[in-house]
Order: sequence, then C-alpha cells, then structure tokens
Amino acid sequence: MLTRRQFLVGGGVVGGLAGCGRRLSTAGRQLNDIQSQLNATRVDRVVEADSLESLRTAVRAARAEARTISIAGGRHAMGGQQFGTDAIHVDATPLNHVLRFDRDHGQIEVEAGMQWPELIDYLWRAQTSAARPWAIAQKQTGADRLSIGGALSANIHGRGLTFRPIIQDVEAFTLVDAGGDVHTCSRRDNPELFRLAIGGYGLFGLIASVTLRLRPRQKIERVVEVIDLDAAPAAFDARIHAGFAYGDFQYATDATSADFLRKGVFSCYRPIEDSSPMPVPRELSANDWRRLLYLSHADKKRAFAEYSTYYLSTTGQRYWSDTHQLSVYIDNYHEALNRQLGATAPATEMITEIYVPRAALPRFIEDVRAGFGEHRESVIYGTIRLIERDDESFLAWARQSWACVIFNLHVVHTPEGIARATDAFRRLIDYALRSGGSYYLTYHRWATRRQVEACYPQFVEFLRLKRKYDPDERFQSDWYRHYRQMFADVL
Ligand SMILES: Cc1cc2nc3c(=O)[nH]c(=O)nc-3n(C[C@H](O)[C@H](O)[C@H](O)COP(=O)(O)OP(=O)(O)OC[C@H]3O[C@@H](n4cnc5c(N)ncnc54)[C@H](O)[C@@H]3O)c2cc1C
Repeated sequence: MLTRRQFLVGGGVVGGLAGCGRRLSTAGRQLNDIQSQLNATRVDRVVEADSLESLRTAVRAARAEARTISIAGGRHAMGGQQFGTDAIHVDATPLNHVLRFDRDHGQIEVEAGMQWPELIDYLWRAQTSAARPWAIAQKQTGADRLSIGGALSANIHGRGLTFRPIIQDVEAFTLVDAGGDVHTCSRRDNPELFRLAIGGYGLFGLIASVTLRLRPRQKIERVVEVIDLDAAPAAFDARIHAGFAYGDFQYATDATSADFLRKGVFSCYRPIEDSSPMPVPRELSANDWRRLLYLSHADKKRAFAEYSTYYLSTTGQRYWSDTHQLSVYIDNYHEALNRQLGATAPATEMITEIYVPRAALPRFIEDVRAGFGEHRESVIYGTIRLIERDDESFLAWARQSWACVIFNLHVVHTPEGIARATDAFRRLIDYALRSGGSYYLTYHRWATRRQVEACYPQFVEFLRLKRKYDPDERFQSDWYRHYRQMFADVL
C-alpha cells in the first residue's frame, strides 16, 4: 500500500484520478467547480497561462476586447468565485514552477498555479540530503489539488492547532493589475493590496507568484481518542499545552443516534525526536475511501464505527509534518455514488464552514442538533478545528480565535434540492450568529444580505476598494457580480 510520501514520489493513483477529471472539465467553454458542480459557467474562452507574460497578455487582450477576466487554479471554490460568465478565463495550472528557493531563510517563491502536491514533492526532492529540511506549514485538508493562488485568494487554513490563516505564511506575492502592470505586494510594498488580495477572491488582479514562509519539516506522531464534544474544548487546550501542532475532531453524522455531532474522533499530532524511526504507516486505499464514502451516505452509523475503529488503530503512527496533511480526494466521486445509491437526480456535497467563539461551541452544536430538522439527514461528514485570529487581511474571516465547524451537506441538483440546501446553509449561519459567530465565503453564496453584513461588516468597503483598484471591473466572477448586485444600493 502506498504511503502519502510514496504516492507523491510515484505520482500515484489519486493524482491520476484528479488529472483525469481536470482534462474532462477543460474540454469545453462550460466550466464547473470540482466538488459541488453547482457552478456551471459559460466563459468566452479559456486561456492557459504558463508565464508572467502570458498573464499580462491575457489582461491586455481583455482590455482590447472590452471583456472581463476570471482566473482559476484548482477550481475547488464553490460559489462561482473562479468563473465569470462570458469572461476570458485564465487557467493558471500550467503556471507551476519554482522560481527561487532560499534555504537560508526558509522561503520559496513559486508560480501561483502550482498545486500542493507539486510543491511538497519539489521540497522533498530538493532536500534529500538536507540535515534540516524545510516544509510547508499548512494546506487545506480533504483535497490536495488546490493551487497556491487559490489558497491565497481564499486565505485558507489547515488543521494547525495554533495557526492563523495562510496569510501568516506569505512573505510576498506578485500581482498583475488591471492595466497589465506587475506589482510586488508584501507587508512593506503595496501593503493595502497585500491585505486585499489575500482573501480577495481574484478581484484585485492575477497573482503570478507567491513567496511562502516555510517551517522545518518535523516528524510527528498521531494520538487518537474518541471523545464527546463537551470534552473537546478542554481536550484541544490540553493538546496545545502539551505541544501538539495539528489536530481535529471528526464528528458522528448519524442523525438517528444520540451521538450525532456529539461524539467524534479526536486526533492530534505531536512533534517527536528527529532521530525517531519512521515505520511505514497503515493507510486506507482509494477503494477503502470509496467504501467509506458510500457508507457515509447509506449507513452512517457503520461509517462512523468503521472510521473510528480504523483511526484508533493508527494511534502512535508517525508522519511528516507536511505529507500528513495530504488527503485522498476522488474527483467526481459522487457520480459513482449516485448510481450505487439509485439516485433519481444527480447530487453532490456542498461544504460550509461555520465559526463560533470556542466557549460557544457546545451551544452552537446543540442548536444544530435541536433545530436542523430534516437537514440532519443531509450531514455527510464534518470536522471541528481551531483557528487563531487574523488581524492582517482586509476581508478576514478569522476575526477572532474561533472554533471552526465544517459541514459537508448532501445537495440534490433539483430546484427543490437547491432550495432545501439554501435553507440549510442559511440556518447554520443563523445558529452561528446566535453564538456570536460567522461563516466562510469560499463555499456557497447562499447567505442573505443580512447574514453577509453581520458576518462581514467590511464587505461593502471591500467592494468599494475593488472598484478603486480596478475601476473598469476587469476582474470579475459570477460571485463578484452576485454581491455587486446585492449591495448595488450602497455602492
Ligand atoms: C474538498 C474541499 C476541501 C477543502 N478544504 C479546505 C480547508 O481545509 N481549508 C480551507 O481553508 N479551504 C478549504 N477548501 C476551500 C478551498 O481551499 C478554496 O476554495 C480555495 O480557494 C480553492 O483553491 P483552488 O486552487 O481550487 O482555487 P479556485 O477554486 O480555482 O479559485 C478560488 C479563488 O481563487 C482565485 N484565484 C485562483 N488562482 C488565482 C490567481 N493566480 N490569482 C488570483 N486569483 C486566483 C479565483 O479567482 C477564485 O476567486 C476546500 C474545498 C474543497 C472542495
């Protein structure tokens, strides 16, 4: 069985599946996001960018033709952030080279279309004999083929226990603006653009390259327990106090059980001695994951039982601080599931991420348990993680040190299914608001104006600043158009 490390070096099975999905989706001018597939968008044409100059050429072409531009990396955002109807669409995936690796300071400059497996693989290959190798600090969990440009534009986070969003790991980036000019943005140079474009969903220009701050690669050990949610806040605190670096709580999803959202697999990772032996860890195969995906829809009780048994059996396993963040993601997994489940209409999962003050976590979960009604059935998978406050990005989602509750909800692609999902996701935001919380903009765009204003009081100013930097609104997505329309009366 492949370990995550062997998979990377071998370019293994999941990478193959991911590539396959991408080729299919680029064949026409109708584009869609990878996961929810709820954002079919007809663009004017797709331009593959493979250099800084090709980004500038795309901007100049858009200006000459009076067209707008949208840009995508891995196409995993789920609210149309990466596609603009009738736009010239820039596919940044060929923009995937390492430009500079500063081993003295632990910084690496990469082109913005580079995806995490490519970057992690580069760092392994370039440092085979390094005594103190560098590694990425954090990436998203649950999927890997996401770009660094996409990571900056959503200001993503991973499962670090004491990390801020990725802005903490960004030294600088280069940006092609609406005039086709190139700017370096950092805390020193163009600091306002730095704050706006990180978490700015591609609306301030095309990010060409990113200089990331790396961390020493560490050996870490996984410690797993199954615990009740009530114990989770103290358990997280205790792990942080004991020096653990990463961790999350994966909750039970069987709505018929008293354990629903209450019981979870609590797994955390602590650094161990550099000299510790590294036996090959036991990992689930792609087929094991397919089976768990099926069970997570068809028999949730069993899914949790099998998953928690497996996870508990991995306690004590050792990993590397970078490759342990890789996941198995099977592109288009729902197509096979729809057949297996005998679905009469296509369906996928839409994710949402809700933030609540840590002390309010038990109350928020009880609100969901008590009030989510028929939507309880649609919870397929979810985790709880921690984030530290981001006091740098303009559209900061981590306004304080939150508990992050992730919900993957099953969405049927019919008008009734979409209406039901809209209601479910709005309800979750309302429960969050009741607890003084918020939600993440990178997923659906079903929040109401009242909810957007409550969670992102700076949103209107964000749109105004977008127009200040891009007066012709060259950079547009359907996500942007949605909010421009929503706030038209105050813009
Ligand atoms: C299964 C799954 C798991 C996820 N897990 C997490 C998680 O653990 N943590 C988390 O924080 N998020 C998570 N996400 C959300 C994801 O990280 C964001 O949506 C991210 O932006 C996707 O990156 P991408 O390369 O696919 O970007 P895309 O979807 O292609 O684009 C996203 C945004 O970035 C912009 N963009 C992309 N490239 C550039 C560029 N070069 N210049 C300017 N703008 C650009 C696009 O215009 C768009 O606005 C997850 C999503 C999925 C589907």
